[in-house]
Amino acid sequence: MAAIEQKKMAPRDQGAPNYKEYLHPLMVKNYGKWKYHEKVKPGVIKRVAEGGDVLWVVRAGSPRTLSVDKVRGICQIADKFCKGFLRFTSRANVEFFVDRLEDVEPLVREVRDKLGFPIGGTGNGVTNIVHTQGWMHCNLPGTDALGAVKALMDELYDEFTNERLPARVKISLSCCSINCGGQADIAVNLQHHHPPKINHNNMQICELPKVVAICPVAAIRPATVGSKNSLEVVEEKCMYCGACHGQCPSMEIRDPDTDTLSLWVGGKSANTRGGPSFMKLALWGLPNNPPRWPEVGAAVKTLLRAYKDSAKEYERMGEWIDRIGWKRFFDLTGFPFTKYHIDTYRFARTTFNTSTQVKP
Ligand code: SF4
Ligand code: SF4
Repeated sequence: MAAIEQKKMAPRDQGAPNYKEYLHPLMVKNYGKWKYHEKVKPGVIKRVAEGGDVLWVVRAGSPRTLSVDKVRGICQIADKFCKGFLRFTSRANVEFFVDRLEDVEPLVREVRDKLGFPIGGTGNGVTNIVHTQGWMHCNLPGTDALGAVKALMDELYDEFTNERLPARVKISLSCCSINCGGQADIAVNLQHHHPPKINHNNMQICELPKVVAICPVAAIRPATVGSKNSLEVVEEKCMYCGACHGQCPSMEIRDPDTDTLSLWVGGKSANTRGGPSFMKLALWGLPNNPPRWPEVGAAVKTLLRAYKDSAKEYERMGEWIDRIGWKRFFDLTGFPFTKYHIDTYRFARTTFNTSTQVKP
């Protein structure tokens, strides 16, 4: 019956294809039957199946924005050593799958020498930074997520190729406060510092109800400006999130003179150990300073140094802060504690712990 219904359905022409069609043959053969894995060295993991099959995974960091030539180079290496099988992780690492031990080191050499990619990103180190789509796809960015990530990973290169931190450190970068980079041990987020400036001459009337509806704090209301229908923002309510700018380009929130970057710490999505947690503000007001964002690089390195010196083995960033307390955290990092670290948002009590993932 199921087969007949399947036959009647139109072929799918959208959405993700069935991933199982693209798995390495050893993965298909041993699907759900992997027994254990060993960390061979930074960037190389040996996976052993119940039946004895072995698959080596070699992880390399990519700069995420790739030329066609670079992608061809990656594919040639995969064809030579991996029967053509590789995958990109959500953090833009490239993982090559090798089923013969004698191919591991030659592959590592070719990835390093021909592609120029570092091998690493596994275990207790810094893996590649997950970042938002930025100007490549989004109309909101207040900073260049791709460029800032490249500059920051250049600074953290040695932490990617080594496993010398207390636990793994996941970093994210978001180019606006909507933060589609997500929760992370360390997150770099852009912050706006004033309400949107409205270009009343450019308002498209059909969009006005959508703009009103999208504000999470109901700070936008209809207004008549001159003889035209437009909008106004109740500034005392606005929290400068920028959501309205995504709906209407005439609600301009970005400002090169006042936008800044901030560091947030202790976020985690996994259920491991202490469970999922939201990140909290650690340092605010860093300049949005392209092309290398040196202040952000220096602050992240300061934070990693304090974490490395003080955290216990396998203690993630948030767990470390929970143990030592925020006072000690600010002492150890030297970050200033300011009035901005206190959540005075008047509806905060109603928004705490609203994710089903976060246990009260
Ligand atoms: S973080 Fe904001 S600006 Fe950046 S891609 Fe996501 S929604 Fe767009
Ligand atoms: S910036 Fe955010 S809070 Fe302010 S008006 Fe726009 S949507 Fe509302």
